[in-house]
Amino acid sequence: MSAYAQLLEAAIRDLEERKAAGERFIAIAPETLSALTTSQSVPTPARTQPAESSTPAVRSTSTPRASGSPPRLPAIRSTATPLNAPRPVAAPPALPLLNITAAEKPAAFAALRERALACTKCPQLVTTRKSVVFGTGDPNAQLMFVGEAPGADEDQQGEPFVGRAGQLLTRIIQAANLSREAVYIANILKCRPDTPLGTPGNRPPRPEERAACLPYLLEQIQLIQPRVIVALGGTAVEGLFGQTEFRITRQRGKWMDFHGTPVMPTFHPSYVLRAEEGPDKGRATKRLVWEDMLQVMVRLEMPISEKQRGFFK
Ligand code: SF4
Repeated sequence: MSAYAQLLEAAIRDLEERKAAGERFIAIAPETLSALTTSQSVPTPARTQPAESSTPAVRSTSTPRASGSPPRLPAIRSTATPLNAPRPVAAPPALPLLNITAAEKPAAFAALRERALACTKCPQLVTTRKSVVFGTGDPNAQLMFVGEAPGADEDQQGEPFVGRAGQLLTRIIQAANLSREAVYIANILKCRPDTPLGTPGNRPPRPEERAACLPYLLEQIQLIQPRVIVALGGTAVEGLFGQTEFRITRQRGKWMDFHGTPVMPTFHPSYVLRAEEGPDKGRATKRLVWEDMLQVMVRLEMPISEKQRGFFK
């Protein structure tokens, strides 16, 4: 494979990982585009262009590519960072100090919920939201799931993970012999991120929205004190740990530490749903998620049957 084709393959891989991690747009330097579009003609690689559905959109102000020139490559990132370098893991934000007794916990949880439901810190989201999606489940749960943000169904019903992705999460929870009522489910953002009028789909939370909303999640975690947290998708990990970049495709399945609470990063159920459109109907991706869940079950000292161990093999 030529150097150009190798670079193209690496770029496609990087874009797919970024998309899996929730990125929808990437910055690109016009001079990079210019340099690439004036490259010499090269043999056509096996994959000349990433499929539109599997890559993040690229915003650029450069002129259209001339016919016959090689396909555009996005600027991956600063040249100071090698393509395959692992991303650093930042220290998680400090947890709030809660000076309450066990008996005071229900009232504190209810008060936190009331504060969140009345929150107007993100004026843009306040005008478009139908509900504040605080969280659902057992406030004394040993296992907590943290996702990204409410979608349209969640916004409508006021409960996290109730759409197609939520139904898949429910099946994952049930496969572990648990129920939604026995765990706690929340998002890093409590209000649905607004999208331009008439635009379908969801967008990931913006950094300022995440920062505004994070205190609610931190207080939830502090009150619930789960033994294990499952972070669903790269955006959830980034929100939880205050990171800017987390590569879920490379770093899922590896335990992280959130102030002493083990965190298992795994794919967001939406990613699994997208994988179902692939040739193996998402079986390989489901197996990876299930392997992460098996680790969680081991950590929680839950019994695991042979049948459970073999799911999606
Ligand atoms: S997203 Fe969070 S911080 Fe922003 S308005 Fe909603 S509850 Fe408040």
